Amino acid sequence: MFYHRTGQMRIAQMAAAPSTKTTDAVMAGTSEPAETLKLTCHCTGITISLPHPPPRPLNECRCSICFSYGALWGYYYPARETVIVTESKGCTVDSYYRTDGDRTGALAFQRCSRCGCVFAWRRTDPTKGSGKMGINFRLMGEDVMEMKRIVSYK
Ligand SMILES: [Zn+2]
Repeated sequence: MFYHRTGQMRIAQMAAAPSTKTTDAVMAGTSEPAETLKLTCHCTGITISLPHPPPRPLNECRCSICFSYGALWGYYYPARETVIVTESKGCTVDSYYRTDGDRTGALAFQRCSRCGCVFAWRRTDPTKGSGKMGINFRLMGEDVMEMKRIVSYK
């Protein structure tokens, strides 16, 4: 499942930001997995909650856009894994939609509206493509440098 929430988080493990309001789940859902990994953007307004341990290897994609972002992707399959994106502190999710070079639908590259950190890509139509989405593990900080990675060009 992929959740995108604004404001107050309804899940006990995500205890931050108790005073904000409005909840806007893009995909309504079940519950957070028992063990999670949390990444945040630089200003901490966007929190990404992921299954733990993270997927390996990570992919240092060198396609034109990923190289520009400097992203290091870990892939998740929202049909069977729970990914929760939470907006707080007035930050919202902005997207850049890439539509070139692919016949399986647009890709949304998602970033924080305040600090601009790119944290994910996913298909605008989740029924197309392989069903995977990418999470930018650069947000993990320098610990990510110890993680196994591959390099691809698409
Ligand atoms: Zn931010």
